[in-house]
Amino acid sequence: MAHSLDHFIVWLGDAHAMEVQATAMLRAQIARIENYPELRERMQQHLIETEAQAEALRKLLDRVPGSGSVLKEVAGRLSAVAQGVTGMLAADEVVKTTMAIYTFEHSEIATYRVLIAAADELGDTEAVDVFEKIVSEEMAMAAWLETHLDVVTRLYLMRDERDLLAKR
Ligand code: MG
Ligand code: FE
Repeated sequence: MAHSLDHFIVWLGDAHAMEVQATAMLRAQIARIENYPELRERMQQHLIETEAQAEALRKLLDRVPGSGSVLKEVAGRLSAVAQGVTGMLAADEVVKTTMAIYTFEHSEIATYRVLIAAADELGDTEAVDVFEKIVSEEMAMAAWLETHLDVVTRLYLMRDERDLLAKR
């Protein structure tokens, strides 16, 4: 039982760092999108969700004595800056960004599936409820992107053909 709890705390800390990183990444990407308002709006909505997710995970961690050591905010923020910049100099920036978020959402879904199983093993129903809510938001974002990868790609190609500012 002690071992399961140790794993759970580390995974929860990693998830918190992931969400802090996600907020920085989304903020950087949103600031650069100019010609894809629908995408920008959906990302803005998910940024607000993501901030609440980070806060909810923080509250779960705060319940656990001595869990402060797993808070990796600083490291998370630094790598977020690096991730936010990746692909920004690409000619097809908006396509690369949309692909990157789609990938990121699936990695988040995997993280919460693991956390749900671990919390369930520990009988931590409060945590299970929090993770279930979060994973539904990640799945909704992934599903939206699933559809809009098509739209964004076609719009990008159309704009590029007409020599409009297509990249973002
Ligand atoms: Mg998230
Ligand atoms: Fe997400």
